[in-house]
Amino acid sequence: MKYVQVDTQSDPHSNAHPTTEKQKHLSNMLANELLALSLNDAHADAFGYMYATIPSNTKKNVPVICFCSHVDTAPDCSGTNVKPILHKQYNGEDIVLPDDNTQIISSEMFPYLKEHIGHDIITASGLTLLGADDKAGVAIIMDLVNYLTKHPEIKHGAIKILFTPDEEVGQGTDKIDLKKLGADFAYTLDGGAAGTLEDETFSADGVKVTIHGVIAHPGDGKNKLVNAMKIAGEILTALPFELSPEATEKREGFIHPVGMEGVAEKATIQFLIRDFITANLAKHEAVLKNSIEKVLASHPKASFEFEVKEQYRNMKEVLDQYPQIVTNATEAIQRVGLNVIKEPIRGGTDGSRLSFMGLPCPNLFTGMQAIHSKKEWIGVKDMKHAVQMLVHLVQVWEEKS
Ligand SMILES: [Zn+2]
Repeated sequence: MKYVQVDTQSDPHSNAHPTTEKQKHLSNMLANELLALSLNDAHADAFGYMYATIPSNTKKNVPVICFCSHVDTAPDCSGTNVKPILHKQYNGEDIVLPDDNTQIISSEMFPYLKEHIGHDIITASGLTLLGADDKAGVAIIMDLVNYLTKHPEIKHGAIKILFTPDEEVGQGTDKIDLKKLGADFAYTLDGGAAGTLEDETFSADGVKVTIHGVIAHPGDGKNKLVNAMKIAGEILTALPFELSPEATEKREGFIHPVGMEGVAEKATIQFLIRDFITANLAKHEAVLKNSIEKVLASHPKASFEFEVKEQYRNMKEVLDQYPQIVTNATEAIQRVGLNVIKEPIRGGTDGSRLSFMGLPCPNLFTGMQAIHSKKEWIGVKDMKHAVQMLVHLVQVWEEKS
């Protein structure tokens, strides 16, 4: 309730780190709260990253585990003057948000709400997002620290706490200092429904296609002018529908045009290429290239360039090398009494990047729902379960070391 009231919206158009200064307000607040809980190395750096350590209290040699959440909220929806509302013992009826009564949260739209009847839930007031993504993760980690400092009988290895800025604009790992962090393995707390354990993401490439036409005065264009924009249109029309996001689900990959720019002489199209199997990216890229070559065959004076850029990779390739990260989390979720929900993420997370930077990092649930919207909500019960999961998780690592 307190953390969501700090405006921490990140900005995709900024080149600064953090992209917005205001994210530091929360990072600094969290560092101060952790100092008050006797985590003596807690500090936020100039880039808005907050680092802290809970020292080990066991004689065993336990791998250093990091828990990580992002402080920023999505640019999609205002995060200014968030007024969180605690709905005690939710009664199952539609929730009309008071500051804009066209914003209605219903169990018809969100069937998961039904699992929270009789329990407390938190929403925003109708004008902003809530920011449970990812301040729920922040709150869960803070409560873990609070709990562990009051329960020294719970044995655990060294635990690193990391809060990052700019996750929502894809820059959450840009200025991270993994050496300073000094963790062996990490978990992001940035997932949805209770029990969720995400260890698999897309592998992702970006492709930029540049089409070069031939320019001539249109009054004198006959048999000379070759319009690059029209060729771009033909390329889009020729894309195989069965390989589009509109036609794929679950473990299927796709080719997705996301942006186009052009004048008659030159046009560019940006594509996202996605698949769970990294080797399939090259196959999809070959399909795309082939279909462009076919289109260009009927425009012999035109030419094209095809640039592939790696974006991120399926974290499972890394996590499979350290199976205990996922088996220990599975055990912890089961000890809470929850069923483990494992679904591949049709997207990426900071954990995908971290995993390939040398910090293997799956994603755990917080309870957040309807994120990036004014209807965002979260069940308090799920957050409590997430804290319990972390308390079990640090013990599982200690027991198995
Ligand atoms: Zn998030």
